[in-house]
Amino acid sequence: MAISLYIHVPFCLRKCRYCDFVSYSYDPEAACRYRVALLREMALYHERLGPEERRLKTIFIGGGTPTCLPEEDLAAILEGCSRYFQWLPGVEVTVEANPGTVDLSKLRTLRCAGVNRLSLGVQTCSDHFLRLLGRVHSFNQAVEAVILARRAGFDNLNLDLIFAIPGQTVANWQHCLRKVLSLRPEHISAYSLQLEEGTPLAREVAEGRILPCEEETELAMYREVIDFLVDRGYEHYEISNFARPGYRCRHNLTYWHNEPYLGLGPAAHSCLGDERFYNTGSLEEYEARLLAGELPVAGRERLSRDTMMAETVFLGLRLIEGLDLARFESRFGKNIEEVFGEQIKKLSRLGLLKIHSKHLKLTARGLPLANAVFREFVLP
Ligand code: SF4
Repeated sequence: MAISLYIHVPFCLRKCRYCDFVSYSYDPEAACRYRVALLREMALYHERLGPEERRLKTIFIGGGTPTCLPEEDLAAILEGCSRYFQWLPGVEVTVEANPGTVDLSKLRTLRCAGVNRLSLGVQTCSDHFLRLLGRVHSFNQAVEAVILARRAGFDNLNLDLIFAIPGQTVANWQHCLRKVLSLRPEHISAYSLQLEEGTPLAREVAEGRILPCEEETELAMYREVIDFLVDRGYEHYEISNFARPGYRCRHNLTYWHNEPYLGLGPAAHSCLGDERFYNTGSLEEYEARLLAGELPVAGRERLSRDTMMAETVFLGLRLIEGLDLARFESRFGKNIEEVFGEQIKKLSRLGLLKIHSKHLKLTARGLPLANAVFREFVLP
């Protein structure tokens, strides 16, 4: 089976105040060493994977902020992807970009190197909230980035948004949605702000210096984004994702269908066959191990069949159309009700799940309670 490839670029211009991803301050020398190490990692997988697993249906270069790398580095990474892997016809190639780190030349380089989807971290249209989040850009820079991306030939743009920011009201959020929609993106991801432990924003909330968004307001904002985008022709196809017809993110669909992917770069995760493994998050160790000719894997886990079935269910339930029951049966040789009959009965009785058109799906009531539903399928 062809796979999806994820590449983690672990650099950002500055750490956002809510972020707990693995990322380091951008430094040209470190970025140069990273690029050398990453190409070695690709070469090692080229030797170790079979021809089928070297065939790529999607590539996603994320981070961090991939576009804080100079365009020569980005071009070299993409060239490495095509030297060491085989791109299937119609491959989807996404690069994450932050406003303030792109110019026309860099965007044209990406487009010429085969990138056909750009994901821009816009987050909010309010400069006040952008500052609160510690983002390095203004909303005007985000608008400028969209204009430049169109000029460079990108006709598949995702804009990432965050809601439930402390101090944000439903009216602010509606205003933000209107402004973002005027940019006519093909795809929108809208996630509520997560206050991750250890981040400056979470600390300030814990110390009472900033008031978090009320749960009710957050729920109202979630309902608002669904109604607003669906009314304007977007398909709500995953809990937090919306697309114009034909523009669903195929890379992320790999994860939600629980299909194989390989992750390269510090802290990247992979899942191939019945094995899940992840790289060290330390940039130094990542580089040293690759220089020594070793894969920088920090941990491996063999997945039991029960684990794979449970994960396939709760990942599939993230999709609005739900989990395809025939696909589940052909993959595992078992009817889903034989395996999870009790959970399905219980959650259906509570009005959170239903079987509809041969799919198991969350109900409208279950959607905002998705995490509680997923926990029912996690093995003890
Ligand atoms: S740009 Fe993204 S990865 Fe970098 S610090 Fe901000 S949220 Fe984290």
